[in-house]
Amino acid sequence: ARVDSGAPTIFDKIISKEIPSTVVYEDDKVLAFRDINPQAPVHVLIIPKQRDGLTELGKADHRHEEVLGRLLYAAKVVAEKEGISEGFRVVINNGASACQSVYHLHLHVLGGRLMKWPPG
Ligand code: 5GP
Repeated sequence: ARVDSGAPTIFDKIISKEIPSTVVYEDDKVLAFRDINPQAPVHVLIIPKQRDGLTELGKADHRHEEVLGRLLYAAKVVAEKEGISEGFRVVINNGASACQSVYHLHLHVLGGRLMKWPPG
């Protein structure tokens, strides 16, 4: 979807295992799995298991503070597990103009190559 319709996304089907994915890390609140179209040797997506209105970071409320912290900590755990602790990037594309395509909040964890700055 180009814009946020609030409708369920493909990530719900990944959470329910209706659509297969390669899970890298999972706990009670978040799921991390490999991106189907990797932009780096390591490219993992981390999502809240309960979207709870978190279609994008810009829609976050105080009630989301705990899961937001968990998502960021999970990025660190994933980076360690993937052996990229020394250099990695965490990205959130927020909204259509930032190329968000799935309206279920997700962190991209990217690494395993030189990550240039600034991005495009
Ligand atoms: P966005 O552009 O919204 O920040 O990122 C969405 C990401 O989800 C993209 O990098 C895209 O490759 C990934 N993606 C979309 N559909 C699927 C899928 O069915 N499985 C997996 N593993 N990744 C997906």
